[in-house]
Amino acid sequence: MFYTHILFGALLFLVAENYIHISLLQWAVIPLAAILPDIDTENSFISKRLPLIPLLFSGVKHRTLTHSLVGLTVATWLAFGVGYFTQHIEITLPFFIGYASHIFADMLNDAGVALFYPEKKRYRLLRIRTGSVSEMWFFISVLGGIIAILFSV
Ligand SMILES: [Zn+2]
Repeated sequence: MFYTHILFGALLFLVAENYIHISLLQWAVIPLAAILPDIDTENSFISKRLPLIPLLFSGVKHRTLTHSLVGLTVATWLAFGVGYFTQHIEITLPFFIGYASHIFADMLNDAGVALFYPEKKRYRLLRIRTGSVSEMWFFISVLGGIIAILFSV
């Protein structure tokens, strides 16, 4: 799912590129934001490399706070704050797109996400299982979308 998230974030941002100029820094923010919501599990890419992070979220269930609209809003404001103080406020949009793309992609999974956390109800659009053939086809479709966009410019 890790690569799927990065690729899906990149696809959405490629679509946005038709409307705005995108810097290298903005492109670098996309994969980071696209995998960030999974800091609520020890098994994520970031958590394995920065073991202190899962400790911070030890009381938070997977796919709840960090996968909700509250999480998206707070994280985007934090990104805005980092952008403001580093004079790179332009990181806010790709951060938002990358983070939101993760939540949307997880909604395609059968486990769903607690989109309106603290409400516990899980929302999902499809039942694609992580690591399944369906996810592989989703991955291939997203990759196809990226290739189509890149070669149509
Ligand atoms: Zn997730």
